Amino acid sequence: MTAISVDGVAVIADEPTASGIVDRGGKPVVWTQTRTLRLADGRTVYGCLHCDRTSTNPLSIRPHLSVHSSRPRKTTKAAAARAVADLPLGDLLARLAELDQLTADRDTWKARAQTAERKLATLRNALGGNK
Ligand SMILES: [Zn+2]
Repeated sequence: MTAISVDGVAVIADEPTASGIVDRGGKPVVWTQTRTLRLADGRTVYGCLHCDRTSTNPLSIRPHLSVHSSRPRKTTKAAAARAVADLPLGDLLARLAELDQLTADRDTWKARAQTAERKLATLRNALGGNK
């Protein structure tokens, strides 16, 4: 969970962080997993959506996020669905493209495997073996 205090100072506001970049449609890109945390003493720090890690540098949170997301070995379907729901649209589209590529690769390899099996069966028959 995102930090609720930093160095003993309460977090009084927790918002997604403006990245300062815009997408191809010209809309500002917002990092939902990098939180902009305003502290009771007036300071601003940046925090992780998933744990209490904070930093004065917003750019240090994004690399840290990988400890939470990268292909968990054991995950429930519900947890996986929540993780996907938190992804920005751009990441979702990238994953979809990756899935399409994997599916195409799988179909190619499956066809090659079936062709190889047929050729092997033909060879076995030609050699007179049954195994
Ligand atoms: Zn974290």
